[in-house]
Amino acid sequence: MLLEVRDLHVEFRTRDGIAHAVNGVSYEVDAGRTLAVLGESGSGKSVTAQAIMGILDMPPGRITGGEILFQGRDLLKLPEEERRTVRGAKIAMIFQDALSSLNPVLTVGDQLAEMFTVHRGLSRREARARAVELMDRVRIPAPAQRVRDYPHQFSGGMRQRIMIAMALALEPDLIIADEPTTALDVTVQAQVMDLLAELRREFDMGLILITHDLGVVADVADEIAVMYAGRIVERAPVHELYKRPAHPYTRGLLESIPRLDQKGRELYAIKGLPPNLTRIPAGCAFHPRCPMARDVCRTDVPPLDEAGARRGSACHFWRECLDA
Ligand code: SF4
Ligand code: MG
Repeated sequence: MLLEVRDLHVEFRTRDGIAHAVNGVSYEVDAGRTLAVLGESGSGKSVTAQAIMGILDMPPGRITGGEILFQGRDLLKLPEEERRTVRGAKIAMIFQDALSSLNPVLTVGDQLAEMFTVHRGLSRREARARAVELMDRVRIPAPAQRVRDYPHQFSGGMRQRIMIAMALALEPDLIIADEPTTALDVTVQAQVMDLLAELRREFDMGLILITHDLGVVADVADEIAVMYAGRIVERAPVHELYKRPAHPYTRGLLESIPRLDQKGRELYAIKGLPPNLTRIPAGCAFHPRCPMARDVCRTDVPPLDEAGARRGSACHFWRECLDA
């Protein structure tokens, strides 16, 4: 297994008290597979990724429990230097906002080339050639000319392709993409997603795709983990989850996706807001918003039960949900 997150816990100190951002998350990603991690903002999906990347090692965020096994070794226990090597070369991250992740005063060619001079010891000329090659790989037209352009001279979609090129430069084993297409319009979103999926296959990497948008992952993910209030509430192979959700929260998310074949139908929206992480409701954290909630939901935390082959649901009544 490429990556196994086991029972991860992360807290933040805030003015309101301790925010319980991640509360026992476990998931796995294998080489050549894509796991989509879905949730509203504050569900813990990005924080889990930041813990994997090691960009949480500083206060106020704190990992209070769990393991992050990468190629069998716990990143949380590795000596600092080894950890940095793994995270620098074997795991790459793509963020939503390319414009603020790229350096505005360097050409994209220089930024790409730097990956090769610094990490691979290539000469400037060789590094430049690799930069052009990479830009071609992510299908930027006329790469030999465009290496000389600055980030602001590219469209949003093209900039996101450059981010993907940067992530691919060192041929990582795992890419974590956090809302990589959220800032783009819908057609460009689909193109960038397709490109990511294609490169993932070509390079045989694992991919974690973090998103709040169930609409964008259907065609590219193998599996989905749905997060709510710092826990995984449902996980399933992607097509099964779409066909028969086993958790009322997932059902609500599915019913709120606009669909072309049902134009004019009123969209269902899950009522209420995600909880304040300093005061997560007792029992099932979703109970104040759940149309199926009963007494037991207010007192007992539902465990992530096996709900079929390679499926799990953290709902006391997942069977009813599947049949609904
Ligand atoms: Fe709803 Fe209860 Fe299931 Fe939670 S455990 S999702 S409140 S039915
Ligand atoms: Mg986020």
